Amino acid sequence: MKQTEIYDSAVIGGGVMGCTTALHLARGGMRVVLVERGGLCGEATGRCGGTLSLMYVPAILVPYAIRGRELWKDAPRWLGRDVGFNDRHGLDIAFTDADGETLRAEMELRAAAGAPIEIIDGNQARKIEPALSKDIVAAAHCAQDGHALSYLSGVFFHRALARAGVDIRVGTDVFGVEGGDRGFVLRTAKQSIRARRIVLAGGVWMRKMIGWFGLDVPIIGRVTQETISERMPPILASGVRVFRDISLKQAANGTVLVGGGRGSRWIEDADRETVELDPAVVNQVMMNALGSARRAVPALAVARAVRMWTGIEGIAPDNMPVIGPLPGTADVFTIGCQRSGFTAGPFMGRLLADALLGRQPEMPIFAPAFDPARLLSMAPVDRERGVPTV
Ligand SMILES: Cc1cc2nc3c(=O)[nH]c(=O)nc-3n(C[C@H](O)[C@H](O)[C@H](O)COP(=O)(O)OP(=O)(O)OC[C@H]3O[C@@H](n4cnc5c(N)ncnc54)[C@H](O)[C@@H]3O)c2cc1C
Repeated sequence: MKQTEIYDSAVIGGGVMGCTTALHLARGGMRVVLVERGGLCGEATGRCGGTLSLMYVPAILVPYAIRGRELWKDAPRWLGRDVGFNDRHGLDIAFTDADGETLRAEMELRAAAGAPIEIIDGNQARKIEPALSKDIVAAAHCAQDGHALSYLSGVFFHRALARAGVDIRVGTDVFGVEGGDRGFVLRTAKQSIRARRIVLAGGVWMRKMIGWFGLDVPIIGRVTQETISERMPPILASGVRVFRDISLKQAANGTVLVGGGRGSRWIEDADRETVELDPAVVNQVMMNALGSARRAVPALAVARAVRMWTGIEGIAPDNMPVIGPLPGTADVFTIGCQRSGFTAGPFMGRLLADALLGRQPEMPIFAPAFDPARLLSMAPVDRERGVPTV
């Protein structure tokens, strides 16, 4: 396309949200450019644990997560590749009666929203997953869980997007967006890009992107860590979570991935990641995570950690996604900041694309609970208390 020509839609940010939105917009007949400053899915999407779970999401998002998980399972049909979908049971375990009660209350809300979750005791949990510690007093069990190869998602999306005719501009940092008579102009170091419609899909950089339009919203970043072990003999058949602490899963090659860890941090500006990620804190969180992993699954006591990395998610104070029209500027939309966003991502992107194509989305996507406008009157997240979990 020539520089003077204009795209129907420019999607800024190439994580799971931006990639699926761009893909479905292009398949719906729009001329689409996807602009990503790094490589596709190089940030939260590619760094995430790839867990496909209904047990982490706020209850209102359960129906969306169920459909997202189905789409990952069905990836060969719509993405053209099997993404290593692994169908497993999930267990969220508690070591104390108090945690068990909170777990029960939260999971009942998710079950009422359609997740196939039941509360079981420690013995029942160990029947499902014999490797679990004898100290577990209660667990939530979900028959629909699993994971996918999140670290390969960028490669898979790249092929599908190219085939759909999306103009993929990786390594292209957008510095700002200007409005004009003939749509919007995206300012980049390389060349300007013109588009009639803008989709902001910047993950933890969403606040900065919304700032281009003169608005400030209280989205901040939460740092999560992942630690992977050396290859181990088969230990774990299910996806295991320690309530409000870590997640654990073993891949087919024997490595065990430990996600999370007590002491995770909030950060104001993801561009200052390298400044704000103190190695002493990173090491401490990793040690906490490995300690919790050993407590949950004693056989992991001999496992050696071989690699650790961090990723940052954008989180709104009410823990809800930020999806919908941006207030004050027509034809600008946002998608992102969704908890467990890898799970539901492919569905959310498809819903937004349907809405922008003038089709009836399968589920509400411009829902009041997701509306970016709600954030304008919200106080920032209380870092001590965190965000609501259900
Ligand atoms: C460590 C970790 C583990 C997680 N584990 C899970 C899990 O197991 N299961 C699950 O369901 N969810 C998980 N999540 C959450 C999930 O990863 C996210 O919700 C989801 O990937 C967010 O996708 P996104 O497209 O909104 O953001 P991102 O994937 O972060 O994509 C945003 C993109 O915007 C780009 N961008 C930013 N600014 C600009 C700019 N100015 N110009 C151009 N491009 C720009 C960035 O480079 C980035 O690629 C985890 C998150 C983390 C961090």
